[in-house]
Amino acid sequence: MTAAARLRTLYDTLAAAYGPQHWWPSESPLETMVGACLTQGTAWTSVERSLANLRARDLLHFDALLALPEDELRELIRPSGFMQRKAVTLRALLALVATEYGGSLERFAEAPAETARAQLLAITGIGPETADAILLYALGQPAMVVDEYLRRVVVRHGLAPERARYAEVQQLALAAFAGERDPAALADHCNEFHALVVEVGKAHCGRTPDCAGCPLRGDLERHQQARE
Ligand code: SF4
Repeated sequence: MTAAARLRTLYDTLAAAYGPQHWWPSESPLETMVGACLTQGTAWTSVERSLANLRARDLLHFDALLALPEDELRELIRPSGFMQRKAVTLRALLALVATEYGGSLERFAEAPAETARAQLLAITGIGPETADAILLYALGQPAMVVDEYLRRVVVRHGLAPERARYAEVQQLALAAFAGERDPAALADHCNEFHALVVEVGKAHCGRTPDCAGCPLRGDLERHQQARE
């Protein structure tokens, strides 16, 4: 079985074990975009406190957020940490949507995925993982998010080398859905795949793997036996 086929089987196993995940946990695409920027290097609970600050001031609207002075934004997102850098990044992101798409996330979502991704990556503070999270969860594009949890799973299961680059892991994960031709259906798979990997990562596959009771233990054991 190819690595991509095995990864697809792992996805099916996780889906059967955990069920639909219904990500992203937000109330609007704008909130998702803001959350994706704020969650870098920070627990989601801290991001929720920042989002609650913005919501309490009725600022989770594009024009209101764009007009917010940087020093005020910094204070409101303080719970997420790195507030100075994240405020600059957020304002650059809002400026991109304002200048290129007239302030419309719907129009941003209609841009070719490669164009939108390149524009996101051109913003200081937005790396591939954040760009792909915005593409997928805020804009509905079929982008595969590669995070530390996915990296651990594919490396520990022998599906990718330890030093695999972001793009390599992403291509492997996309290859698991190579038969899916419908972009919307592929986006749904990318959405569920990332959410399920985070779920198994939090429950079992942290810095120290806790394989007992993990839904993916069977695949790991077969992989280890095949190597012996
Ligand atoms: S905890 Fe073990 S079985 Fe589960 S995904 Fe990680 S390495 Fe695989």
